Amino acid sequence: MIDEKEAIARHFAKTPKPTDGIKAALIDMDGVLYDSMKNHTAAWFRMATELGIECTRNEFYGYEGMTGAATINVLFQRAYGRDASPEEVKALYARKAQYFVEMGEPQMMPGAAQMLNTLRDAGITRVLVTGSGQQSILDRLDRDYPGIFAHDKRVTAHDVTHGKPDPEPYLKGLQMAGCNAREAIVIENAPLGVLAGSRSGCFTVGITTGPIPEADMTASGADIVYASMPEFASHLPSLLNAFKD
Ligand code: MG
Repeated sequence: MIDEKEAIARHFAKTPKPTDGIKAALIDMDGVLYDSMKNHTAAWFRMATELGIECTRNEFYGYEGMTGAATINVLFQRAYGRDASPEEVKALYARKAQYFVEMGEPQMMPGAAQMLNTLRDAGITRVLVTGSGQQSILDRLDRDYPGIFAHDKRVTAHDVTHGKPDPEPYLKGLQMAGCNAREAIVIENAPLGVLAGSRSGCFTVGITTGPIPEADMTASGADIVYASMPEFASHLPSLLNAFKD
């Protein structure tokens, strides 16, 4: 049984809760707005395997949220004991991105449009916060989710140095939203993203939309965990109300 009020009370045990509800939602993209992680993991696995680096497809679910360079360096450190050069990163990320494109367009996440419309109708600022630099999917946002993300309210791989699990992407998102951590929620689907959200100080929602177990979200600092996007979308009005109690 998910208890929104209890989760909020726990989060605000030491700091005062804003009295008039939250002002912004900082929203991850892959695995939240798009059912894209199975294609990302397949593309990473293909690229790494072709290089002769031993890996499993599932391990790439664990790297979700890291920058492309950080993921490539995990592979390079393991296989060669060194970081990749900037040229290697560029070439290998381009190859991975190409494999991702070749698999076709990932589906919009069921329930995501309902979730976004609820936020918009409640007057809550939406900020996209993704570690992705995958242009093929960033280009779809205006078509798939029209009027949801203003162009000056998007943090992507191009805007951050550290990437998740560093809180930097979410701190940038707070800046863009013009509010502080107490007034915003983070919406995430992956442990490193949850960790980044939690470190930023925001109330962090973890949603399991793939093979990552709910326990991993909790262990990474999620304030509340939902079993699917449709479940979160249906609970979102009561979550927003509970912030105002
Ligand atoms: Mg994600």
